[in-house]
Amino acid sequence: MEECLFCQIVEQKIPSEKVYEDEEFYAFRDIHPAAPVHILLIPKKHVASLMELSPEDEALAGRLLLTAQKIARQFGLDENGFRVVNNIGVEGGQTVFHIHFHLLGGRTLTWPPG
Ligand code: 5GP
Ligand code: ZN
Repeated sequence: MEECLFCQIVEQKIPSEKVYEDEEFYAFRDIHPAAPVHILLIPKKHVASLMELSPEDEALAGRLLLTAQKIARQFGLDENGFRVVNNIGVEGGQTVFHIHFHLLGGRTLTWPPG
């Protein structure tokens, strides 16, 4: 997926502030943080959105959540609470079509979102 922004970030063709990496996942700081801690966690494999995950991605999807947990601990977000967000499609607010989880924390977050 040469034209995908987040694939290019994984390939280091576009710079990013990396906070975590393993064989399957990459996490980096959001360029427009909406909270004191705002991290984007992505699989290195290109999947456009939650709706494009397939049964063969079952284990990957599980490890994605456990990786979110690991990064939350790394940043101490679990002490006071935080939020994991996955936007899907245009009305869901998705602007980059490579699946990503936002990890937001470091302040009290309001609910519901707009
Ligand atoms: P979405 O709206 O698709 O859920 O989230 C996309 C996120 O990617 C946004 O929060 C946006 O600020 C972030 N973003 C867009 N382009 C870049 C970039 O080039 N680098 C980084 N680090 N974040 C980006
Ligand atoms: Zn991609």
